[in-house]
Amino acid sequence: MKVKAYSAFDSRNRNHLISKGDGMYGFSYIKESGTVRLFPLLAAVRGYVMRLSLFWRLALGSLTIILVVAGVNVYALLQLRQLTSLSTDLVAYHTPAIESAKRLTSSLYAQLRSEKKFWVLHDEVFLREFDEEAAEFTRNLSTLLQQDPAQEGQQLLGKTQRLYEAYRRLLREATPRPLPRASLPDDRYTSRRDALVDGVADSLDAYVGLHEALMRTVVNESRTRSAQAEAIMRRLVVVAILLGLGLAAVASYSILRPLRRVQDHIRQIGQGKFGETVQVEAPSDLRELVETVNWMGKKLQELDDMKADFLAHISHELRTPLASIREGTHLLLDEIPGPLSPNQRETLQIMQDSSQRLIRLISTLLDLSKIEAGLMQYQIVLTDLAQVAENSVGKVRLLAEGKRIQLLTEAPHERTWVPMDGARIEQVVDNLLSNALKFSPDGACVGLHIEMDRKKNLVLVSVSDTGAGIPSEDLPHIFDRFYQGRTSARSQLAGSGLGLAFAKRVVEAHGGRIWAESEPGKGTTVTFTLPLTQPRSVA
Ligand code: ADP
Repeated sequence: MKVKAYSAFDSRNRNHLISKGDGMYGFSYIKESGTVRLFPLLAAVRGYVMRLSLFWRLALGSLTIILVVAGVNVYALLQLRQLTSLSTDLVAYHTPAIESAKRLTSSLYAQLRSEKKFWVLHDEVFLREFDEEAAEFTRNLSTLLQQDPAQEGQQLLGKTQRLYEAYRRLLREATPRPLPRASLPDDRYTSRRDALVDGVADSLDAYVGLHEALMRTVVNESRTRSAQAEAIMRRLVVVAILLGLGLAAVASYSILRPLRRVQDHIRQIGQGKFGETVQVEAPSDLRELVETVNWMGKKLQELDDMKADFLAHISHELRTPLASIREGTHLLLDEIPGPLSPNQRETLQIMQDSSQRLIRLISTLLDLSKIEAGLMQYQIVLTDLAQVAENSVGKVRLLAEGKRIQLLTEAPHERTWVPMDGARIEQVVDNLLSNALKFSPDGACVGLHIEMDRKKNLVLVSVSDTGAGIPSEDLPHIFDRFYQGRTSARSQLAGSGLGLAFAKRVVEAHGGRIWAESEPGKGTTVTFTLPLTQPRSVA
């Protein structure tokens, strides 16, 4: 059974599709759920807002807040004007009317007093006093009549005027000129006069009462109005604050959200996922930034592809001549062309080791390029994992002995059949073991541990050492291509930074997982898992 590895392109495209769907920001989701159909106006407004530039979003948001605040102020001004006009009514109209009416009443009684004095003393001075007061009374009454616009007030003042004139007529008739000596008003006159004077006083009282009642109404009305205005103002202020906050939130959300998406996308580019494009509904001025970032991602992807092509090509071209060199050195070392001096043998041995290393490096490079191009094909068959591990251990045994490193293998007794490409997994174990040996000091201990986890339906393979360990800053990157940590740089150990990158891709293609745990100074354990489920064809 041949299983194709997940290529970097496949995963890129997969992510791209996800991000594209995601990029619609649930707009498509909203469309599907029928919300757009339910609220076409809302959708149109949203569409319009999304087209607005940053400047217009901020300007419109601020303008709306200014309009609301201006509306609140206009309302407050209107209310204030109405309250002012009510108090103007009080000051300019009702209070003077009441005072005038009261003055008229006291003037009426002053006239009555003058009249009574006249009847007692028969001195015409009192009649003149009466006439002067009466002229003043008539003038004030007619002024009041002219100033009072209310019908009720007019009626009361008219009645006052009629009764007052009747009183004057009565007095005139009772005081003919020349006055008869020592005449006294009869009872009929007195009672008629008192009735008229009482009538005038009563109607003036009623007039005062009318204006006092109107004043009370005005005061009550202004109280109610100011209470209403206060309540409405309070609500309007709350609405203005909420609206302001809401608009500020919408404005910043609509600006920050696309920025955050772009930031995430840049982070992904940083992680080497260049090919994806980000689809963001953003304001026009931000859209340029989004397009530039997408363009940058595309360019980086092109460069990455070019690099991969170049590596694949150059590796392929180098492999054949290198193989000839290796074979040639091999022949020379076997002394087929002729015997060798010890110095020659030593030089040839170095050449053979170097060409071997170069060939291994180039093979790994080619394999990685194949995996990333999606061209790697795995021969998945049930293979004994313990046997694969044993082969790997066999390859490094000489090296371990050279460094006096103890190699401990721990595996289940029974055979461990795992569906896998044995050759590729052997390469993975080779890489892990050679790293463990490379980074361990002489006399250290390296362990290979195989464990079946039937519950989780997988097998765990771990290679641990008691070497220098990996600094925590390096740990997240050791599975990246060409990444060589500080440990290897410091110890100047030969390496390519490809071993773990290759291992990760191979293990993941088998549906497994690989990770490293390390404590600087104490050692490192690299573990990978492989699923035990056999593909149908293998079973
Ligand atoms: P290299 O060819 O450099 O070994 P790898 O991909 O195999 O490349 O490893 C990447 C880096 O991870 C190494 O350069 C090293 O810094 C670190 N590393 C891997 N295995 C170990 C280990 N067992 N102990 C310490 N560091 C390790």
